[in-house]
Amino acid sequence: MFKGILIDKNEQEYKAILSDLDDSVLADGDTLVNVSYSTLNYKDALAITGKAPVVRNFPLIPGVDLVGVVENCVSGKFNPGDVVLLNGFGVGELYSGGLAQKAMLKSDWLIPLPKTFTPKQAMAIGTAGYTAMLCVLTLEKHGIKPESGEILVTGANGGVGSYAISILSMLGYTVVASTGRVSESAYLEKLGAAEIIDRGQLSEPGRPLAKERWAGVVDSVGSHTLVNACASTQYGGLVAACGLAQGMELPGTVAPFILRGITLTGIDSVMRPLADRVEAWDRLASLLSPDTIDDIAKEISLSQVIDTASDLIAGKIRGRVVVNTQ
Ligand code: NDP
Repeated sequence: MFKGILIDKNEQEYKAILSDLDDSVLADGDTLVNVSYSTLNYKDALAITGKAPVVRNFPLIPGVDLVGVVENCVSGKFNPGDVVLLNGFGVGELYSGGLAQKAMLKSDWLIPLPKTFTPKQAMAIGTAGYTAMLCVLTLEKHGIKPESGEILVTGANGGVGSYAISILSMLGYTVVASTGRVSESAYLEKLGAAEIIDRGQLSEPGRPLAKERWAGVVDSVGSHTLVNACASTQYGGLVAACGLAQGMELPGTVAPFILRGITLTGIDSVMRPLADRVEAWDRLASLLSPDTIDDIAKEISLSQVIDTASDLIAGKIRGRVVVNTQ
């Protein structure tokens, strides 16, 4: 038996509970991992609260991220004792995931934990930090340099937003942070935001084209915010869209694309090929200091996960939440 969060659903109710579990709830796989740390991402919070249909197999252990120690690996790709990292691949959605003391996984989904990070630090970064890195790599590959101009980061106090600000400012970019919590300005400035704007400036319907301001955008919010960000992106700029915290709709026009040649790039972390994951994690390892990670993340136990998931959906959590599963 081991402890974990279990989500189940029947015609009457959708529920998530902390429970003593047995191996019958584990996924099919070739690698048994003793989970050291997991995290709470926005998607995990949606799964636990049932606010969106993230979970597609019941019963299921949520948790799209984990770091743990391999107990055995039938494929031979890893040895017992290896420390491995998992982000996504449908884990926590289709297959039981990281918010438990054990996980059964496919070895093809796992990468070795980068040596620079402890298991806890890797989960303090998690899918949110790795996705922020994927967004920044996309801006760089588009040729956007620090001297190109300001970069807008939306959802600034969230996990993706916090890491995007931190990474971009470390690379020398001028970051403008959009937030609904201007009261957290000191935190955002410490991460490296040069200017903080109220998200209300972006979240309502706007004009098809606005004054050109952003050389690039990292958007974790979607909806009108994403549309307005596109409308004020400079000629030839790029908007990296990875989230939907405001909404899934895209209520805009083609004007920024056909008149300013801007690029809207979708960023998916879940099914990203292994080579891109390794590139992103190696880059994170070269950039992030332990102090930055500590500033962004707080630790909770498995018993606090369900309440914290509701707080996260309510927008009450700043930065990242690491879950100590032991
Ligand atoms: P968090 O909950 O940590 O952060 C989301 C932030 O968005 C909040 O902190 C808040 O920031 C802002 N926000 C919340 N509600 C609204 C609203 N109604 N209108 C405008 N802004 C809002 O989530 P994550 O950072 O983990 O994830 C952010 C988004 O990115 C989610 O939609 C998630 O599903 C998505 N995502 C996608 C990935 C991919 O592979 N494409 C991977 C990881 C995440 P503030 O208080 O500063 O305004």
